[in-house]
Amino acid sequence: MSSGDTLLGRLLQRQPAKALITGHAMSAPGVGLHIQLDAAARVMHLAGPLRHALARQAVSAQPVPLRDYLMPHSCLSIEGSPGDWIGHSLDLDFQGLGDQPVHLRGWVQPQAEGWLLQLLDIGDLLLERRQARSREQCQLLTTQISEQLRLCSLPRLPQVLTDQLQLLAQRLHIPCIAVALLDEQAQGWQVHQHARAFDAPQLWHLGQRLGTGLDTLNSGAPQPLISGEHPRLQDIFGHAEGFVVPYQDAQGVAAWLLCGFYPVQQRAPDLSHRDWLQLMAALAAPLLERLREQRHHLHLERLEALQTLLGTGWWELFGDRHELQLAPSLASDLGLDRGFLPVRDWLERVHPADREELNARLLDLQDNSAPLLLCIRVLQADAAQSPTWYRLQGQAIGAGTQRRIIGFMLDISDIKNQQQHAATAHARLDNLIASSPAVIYVQRYVEGALLPTFFSDSLLPLLGFSLADCSPAMLVERVHPDDRDQYFERTRQLLRQGSVQARYRMRDSLGDYHWLLDEARLLRDDLGLPVEAVGLWLDVTEATQAAEQVRQSEERYRLLVEDSPAMICRYLPDLTLTFGNRPLAAYLECEPQALPGVNLGSWMSPEQREAFVSRLGQLTPEFAVSTAEINLQLPGREHAWWVWSDRGVFDDQGRLLEIQAVGRDNTEVRRAQQQLTQSAKMATLGEMATGLAHEINQPLNVMRMAVVNVLKRLGNGDVQVDYLTEKLKRIDAQVQRAARVVDHMRVFGRRSEIEQQPFNPLHAIEGTLALLAEGMRGKGLELRIGEAGFEVQVRGHVDQLEQVLINLMVNARDALLAKREDDHPFQPWIALDAERDAQHVRLWVEDNGGGIDPRLMERIFEPFFTTKPVCVGTGLGLSVSYGIVENMGGRLSVSNAAHGARFCIELPILPQS
Ligand code: ADP
Repeated sequence: MSSGDTLLGRLLQRQPAKALITGHAMSAPGVGLHIQLDAAARVMHLAGPLRHALARQAVSAQPVPLRDYLMPHSCLSIEGSPGDWIGHSLDLDFQGLGDQPVHLRGWVQPQAEGWLLQLLDIGDLLLERRQARSREQCQLLTTQISEQLRLCSLPRLPQVLTDQLQLLAQRLHIPCIAVALLDEQAQGWQVHQHARAFDAPQLWHLGQRLGTGLDTLNSGAPQPLISGEHPRLQDIFGHAEGFVVPYQDAQGVAAWLLCGFYPVQQRAPDLSHRDWLQLMAALAAPLLERLREQRHHLHLERLEALQTLLGTGWWELFGDRHELQLAPSLASDLGLDRGFLPVRDWLERVHPADREELNARLLDLQDNSAPLLLCIRVLQADAAQSPTWYRLQGQAIGAGTQRRIIGFMLDISDIKNQQQHAATAHARLDNLIASSPAVIYVQRYVEGALLPTFFSDSLLPLLGFSLADCSPAMLVERVHPDDRDQYFERTRQLLRQGSVQARYRMRDSLGDYHWLLDEARLLRDDLGLPVEAVGLWLDVTEATQAAEQVRQSEERYRLLVEDSPAMICRYLPDLTLTFGNRPLAAYLECEPQALPGVNLGSWMSPEQREAFVSRLGQLTPEFAVSTAEINLQLPGREHAWWVWSDRGVFDDQGRLLEIQAVGRDNTEVRRAQQQLTQSAKMATLGEMATGLAHEINQPLNVMRMAVVNVLKRLGNGDVQVDYLTEKLKRIDAQVQRAARVVDHMRVFGRRSEIEQQPFNPLHAIEGTLALLAEGMRGKGLELRIGEAGFEVQVRGHVDQLEQVLINLMVNARDALLAKREDDHPFQPWIALDAERDAQHVRLWVEDNGGGIDPRLMERIFEPFFTTKPVCVGTGLGLSVSYGIVENMGGRLSVSNAAHGARFCIELPILPQS
């Protein structure tokens, strides 16, 4: 008997005593049990050693039927009376001690009195039979379970396992059953699957961790263990009665079968520990194998998924066969219909540029086990597509016949593409940096100082030095001495505030200074400590100089405007000043600051203002400038004449926003002009002395003749009242005529009014003729006066227009008289005529004096130009006349007509109001 058997006996709590009795009974037949029965099968006497194994060992005074000695199920075997049993072998279970049945076999034989029942112990015989049957069943179960677990599909494995556990539980009457496996981290045991009878309490649940308690039972040979005997199992069984069976493989115990609420020796008394171990092995071995298979499968699946996801896959080189095997995923990626291909074909698929190197490396790997790492391009099945980049890695593993050459390929097209994009972007950026007008720099922070570590290529063209020539001291030395404070402050501020903008001058290698705009930012690490400064220098020399020039020119213009002798101002269309310089303020007798808000119109008469505003109204964005002489009434001065130039400033819609004006005081010039006109007038008057004398003489002569005639009549005494009256009237008429001439002279001699007035130009002709006609005729000049039958108004001064006409007529007279001096029969005439059209009236003065030398024609309107002898001509007549006509808005022109000069005064007609 092995030690295991002994242990089994111990475990299964077999009763060695029973075997003893059995052995004894078997060894001494006839000395089993003798029972004397009466005809009614009542026990009359008991004898034999087996008697002591029975519950009823004695015969009672009142005999009881044999039935009462038997286990209830045995009673059926002894129906009827002993006589009926003759010839039958009777297997009877007697009630033994401790309620244990005592299996006996016997037969009856008649006796003189009653019957004798002789019985032998057949307990062991039965036991063996039962055990054999149990073992047989167990074998069957074992095969079935193992088969089921082995053959089922992997997805069904958990269900099949549960079913088998259930089956086991049913067959062996196990209320709670479970299989415990090592958990994944091998840190302890875990309930892998469990089953229970429908009325059994829940002892375990799926995945329940059981700790390492089971391991301590594992020191000796694999044995089923009973929880009651092993304190450490009590936790696992929740203090219920239980039983564990190990399964051991090459690595040791790999699984446990747990049976809860299970007094094994009672429920399965016939199963040996070997049976249990076999049973467990039938369960665990296929289960573990299937689980390993499952894990392997999952692992493969994972690998496959990973390979597909990564665009990667393994490959293996079979050097002896010159063949290469590719993982299925890889083969399909490359459009190969099978995984195996000759190395030669494989190399064909590789881009020619990479082919030789790959071949050499593969050989090196094969011959010298040199690890392979290479990036190659693999041509696509579709040649039109660009090749795929793979990273190829390979190594030799194992040695001798086990040596294998395997590796993997990883699709790195994405990375390569990104690399290429990054490289392009980088190149672009480099290009950008290099070609940017700015210098980009990086300065590393070292213990409070910033050391240059990078300059973009644009540094060299800008400043003529490069990073290699650069040290912090050199940089400082290059900064303009006047700007060094700003430079140091820039660094301090950068470190303090993290960013800075500064402007300083830096010397280039030729010694010229550049204005640099320096913008820098400090980069810090996770702890907030400065790491480096990144910044850029922008050459702002031109901008700075331009700004300086603008500033200077602004200053110059400001001074120019401020100090200009001209009046400069800006005002709004409603004539409100927004700015005025000092000279304007001086004219207006206030401070320049007081000017804004003042209205220019307040110094104009309503007509002046109206004329001024209407002139502004004609400004357009295209014709934005207008110049005029304006007339104002300034404080303390009677009249001021300003030559005033306005420039309109317009918005996008062409609306007038404001006016910028420059003015010059023209009052003095005006006065001088007036004086000149006056003196010219006086000259004209002087010039007319002769004509005037004649004008006055004529009436005087008439009057003298009248007086002489009257006196003669009076001397004759022949005085008639009518005659006297007639003579006196004539005298009176002549007096009036003389008085008119004198009056007109006086009017003409006066200074002109300041303001122009509307008047009829024909009155000027009349006035002129009144002054000159008699004198001219007296000199033998014919006057041809036109008949102008119209009435128009022009603006100006009637006396000034008269002065013009007088000048023209006097010039004509001079030319005619000069001509007659040489040519006596000459008949001189002067024609004076007027005509009009819609806008203009024209006065003509023409003579037959021969005209003006064409070479002089240009010059005759110049002041002081004269062809007359000194003291006779002043050369002012035409020039003053020209000014007068122009002042009236008209034009004085001359041309040579058939016989002489022909002057034309053209004046705008005032619209009839
Ligand atoms: P002045 O009469 O004092 O010479 P004006 O300015 O009046 O000055 O005239 C300038 C010149 O124009 C005259 O000297 C003369 O030569 C020329 N002139 C003007 N009117 C006539 C004319 N009707 N015929 C020819 N020459 C003329």
